[in-house]
Amino acid sequence: MAYDYIIIGAGSAGCVMANRLSEDAGTSVLLLEAGGKDSNLWIHIPVGFTQTLNNRKVNWCFETEPDEALAGRTIPIPRGRVLGGSSSINGMLYVRGQAFDYDVWAQLGNRGWSYADVLPYFRKAESFERGGDEYRGDSGPMNVADMYERHEIVDAFIEAGEELGYPRNPDYNGASQDGFGYYQVTQRNGRRESTARAFLDPARGRQNLRIEPNAHVTRIEMEGTRVTGVTWSQNGQSRTETANLEVVLCAGAVQSPQILELSGIGQPELLREHGIEVRHALPGVGENYRDHYAARMNWRVNRPITLNEQTRGLRLVGEVAKWVLTRRGALTWTAGIGHGFVRTRPELETPDIQFFFAHASFGSIRDRVLEREPGMTLAVYQCRPESVGSIHLGGPDPFASPKIRPNFLTVELDQQTLVAGLHVCRALGQTKALGRYVDHEMNPGADCVSDADMLAFARQTGATTYHPMGTCKMGHDPMAVVDDRLRVHGLEGLRVVDASIFPTMPSGNINAPVIMAAEKCADMIREERQARIAA
Ligand SMILES: Cc1cc2nc3c(=O)[nH]c(=O)nc-3n(C[C@H](O)[C@H](O)[C@H](O)COP(=O)(O)OP(=O)(O)OC[C@H]3O[C@@H](n4cnc5c(N)ncnc54)[C@H](O)[C@@H]3O)c2cc1C
Repeated sequence: MAYDYIIIGAGSAGCVMANRLSEDAGTSVLLLEAGGKDSNLWIHIPVGFTQTLNNRKVNWCFETEPDEALAGRTIPIPRGRVLGGSSSINGMLYVRGQAFDYDVWAQLGNRGWSYADVLPYFRKAESFERGGDEYRGDSGPMNVADMYERHEIVDAFIEAGEELGYPRNPDYNGASQDGFGYYQVTQRNGRRESTARAFLDPARGRQNLRIEPNAHVTRIEMEGTRVTGVTWSQNGQSRTETANLEVVLCAGAVQSPQILELSGIGQPELLREHGIEVRHALPGVGENYRDHYAARMNWRVNRPITLNEQTRGLRLVGEVAKWVLTRRGALTWTAGIGHGFVRTRPELETPDIQFFFAHASFGSIRDRVLEREPGMTLAVYQCRPESVGSIHLGGPDPFASPKIRPNFLTVELDQQTLVAGLHVCRALGQTKALGRYVDHEMNPGADCVSDADMLAFARQTGATTYHPMGTCKMGHDPMAVVDDRLRVHGLEGLRVVDASIFPTMPSGNINAPVIMAAEKCADMIREERQARIAA
């Protein structure tokens, strides 16, 4: 059987595409996802994100190549491998970035991607629990909530920001991003709101949508420059399915370039090196990779009121009961709780660093096991990193991990900004408001003083905040992979929509921008289809 549209990957973008394209009863849509159903309980309990970070049943658990500039370390790159993709395992923080981010995309020549153009798609996707206004939507499929709980140390963090002269901002997704407050989250009544929940569940009953989990796409099929379908593997069986109209690649910034390369679309020399026949030369595939590299400071707290103790022993039993009965309490906490968006230099037009504050501390950032003693953590990253890396296939095996080379902190501006951010972190910990909870600074500790010390600390201990993007970038220069309608340059019938199409980094976490891009892409596809029918 042939389908009008075949979507590869049921992640943040793929679920939106499946819902919106199948809204037209006259179209047929096949959604292929390499991972399984989202039945793991930890996916749905917000605090459970710590339990899925290293769980290979729902997570690809990629790693970067070892990097000398980061003390020879590899850095974990978790990615969702389940319906909902990374939105099923992410930290749930809802952040759109700055108006300026999208105006830059438009300035680069991408028509239809200015802030004024994309704002309607942010609004279309969401139902903000506080209600709608000119910035916020109130009737979209995805619930966006204020953090369901408040905590005195997080309140103190926001006061600490004010003490240093930063404003309190009740809606950093509204008119301005500047300032401090509580994060907003993709949750519905204390449960995770993944795109599988928000977009796929309401569409499941449609006769024209087939959802196929455990279906690993190994190759995109082409006749000349026309894409005709995909080959996928399920339970060891390989099958090819035909797409009458389009294949929409939504496998995320790590695997979309890999699938293109496996299909012979990419840098000719690299493809030949791996014995893959070149079917369409596109030098930008897998390049322009950026991510948010964060450094984390933590403090021992002088009283037992943090998440570390709240989620142990009898108190944990109480919290579990509270969540089951009321969907409230400590189990609704997420990766970061208090936010801050700040300029490291007064002359900057908009914030260049973002903070994540939590009344919790982890022994290791890899496995996120909470410490026994009370603690708090403040992470910081540069909003728009300039260091650029690459993600390419490591060989012709479609089931092998790609090679991820981020080159974090190679550009001096990235180093300076992160170091400046760490100095602000320390100043926040020393304010009257927050300082009264501090027993001592654990990391980097009092001996770490100079800029060089801070940079060394960032290199030795930093990690990403899991926002890979840009590896199939949108644009019109020779390194662009898709045009501003997200069609792959030089091919017919193939689009990419996921975090890989971003030309530059949005100033914040990127789930909301991915969903916005998918909403926009679905509209473009439907518009083109209507125009074809009318003609
Ligand atoms: C641990 C973690 C925490 C995060 N925290 C936040 C946060 O708090 N806020 C925020 O805004 N962002 C956060 N992010 C980032 C955000 O969730 C992602 O950027 C976003 O979900 C990416 O969407 P995507 O559609 O590009 O890719 P994904 O959602 O990753 O979807 C890609 C899908 O394609 C599937 N796939 C891959 N290869 C194949 C194949 N060969 N065949 C079939 N299917 C395939 C994958 O299994 C996956 O389901 C986090 C991410 C992670 C991993």
